Amino acid sequence: MDPLWLLLLLPLAAASGWVTAKRERARPPRRRDLPEAYFKGLSLLLNEQPDKALQVFMEATEMDGETVEMHLALGNLYRRRGEIERATQIHRNLANRAGLDDELRQLALFELAQDYFKAGLFDRAETLFQDLREAPEHRESACRFLLQIYDQEKEWCDAIAVAEDLARISGEDWSESQAQYCCELVERSLADGKHAPAERQLEAAFQYDPHCVRAVIQSGRLASLRGNHANAIAIWRGLERMAAHALGEVVDHLANSYAALGDHAEYKKFLLDAVDRNPDSRLLAALIEVMKREDAAAGDAAGGGDSPAGQQLLLELVRRRPSLEGLCALLKSRAASGAVASERERQDFTVIADLLSQVVGQGATYHCHTCGFRARSLHWQCPGCKHWGTVQKQAAVGRRGAGGGVAAGVAGVEVTVADATVADATVAGAAAADNTRATAG
Ligand SMILES: [Zn+2]
Repeated sequence: MDPLWLLLLLPLAAASGWVTAKRERARPPRRRDLPEAYFKGLSLLLNEQPDKALQVFMEATEMDGETVEMHLALGNLYRRRGEIERATQIHRNLANRAGLDDELRQLALFELAQDYFKAGLFDRAETLFQDLREAPEHRESACRFLLQIYDQEKEWCDAIAVAEDLARISGEDWSESQAQYCCELVERSLADGKHAPAERQLEAAFQYDPHCVRAVIQSGRLASLRGNHANAIAIWRGLERMAAHALGEVVDHLANSYAALGDHAEYKKFLLDAVDRNPDSRLLAALIEVMKREDAAAGDAAGGGDSPAGQQLLLELVRRRPSLEGLCALLKSRAASGAVASERERQDFTVIADLLSQVVGQGATYHCHTCGFRARSLHWQCPGCKHWGTVQKQAAVGRRGAGGGVAAGVAGVEVTVADATVADATVAGAAAADNTRATAG
């Protein structure tokens, strides 16, 4: 090239270099330009030294107020330490900064939404997360936060829709949770006496999860509320094969429906069969109650299931399926009957039975098989880990039953019920769904 041309090009190149440099200075530094302090802070964070990291980030942002990543790191640290107001201030300032590119603004808004979420300002968090749901980069995380918000706020229709979206994005199966959200809606409808919406919500629940135990129980309740007790009994008894552990949850409902039909013999037959295969103490308690009523109706002098025949039956049951409840009932029955040798023996039996009653009554009888949470009553959503359908009844004492498949533990040891197979569950779930539809007519 002609040297003269080169001389002419030199100032042009210098000017272009100056313009580029100026542009670079005007733009906030990006990830590749991060100062050394950022990495030092990160390293401290990784080494579980958040206080030192905070110090480094604070000094660095004072020296270089433009670095976006540094502000984000500082804001997150404040949030982790529970200083939500400071975190919110940093993230809000960042999101409002003029000239910030869209990607970084969304990042700042995502952090701000998390600040609101942590502060319990769900309305503000929801608005931001809903906006961020439109951004592909934040869509999945925003959905996860929204689901937590709707879960906490009991906004079940929104929860169903977000779970749908989340399942699509992540490829995860949310159907069991969605079925539970439908069951929550069913619960509301039943409480308001709105049977038709309850039926539609139950159908939706079974579409999401044909094995949903809660929906089966609710289907039976809907049928009984409509006066269709035979159908209700058929639905609940589907649990025997589908989810035997849940049978105790419906034994009171079954008692009412059998009573409505006047079919006491069939109810007793069901209970005799159930206690043989199921360690749930409520089934045994229900059977003892039936025996008491029978004794009273027969005008038996002993009464209260304490007739010789009643005692013999109790003894057989306790031998076949040992349980504290059974032993307790047997002792009480002995103390109340004339089968004791002396007044002293009667008193001893009564004291032991009372002590056993207290032990049985004190224990946490439900536990979550996911996180181990223990409770005195059934929670469809575990208060510990927030999983749905993981809390189950636990037997106090038991052993492998004659019916097979049922194993129980002694004092706090886990109980498993293995006789419900997936195939059985599918059939029973589908049957329950059919029954629900059948009750429409
Ligand atoms: Zn749990």
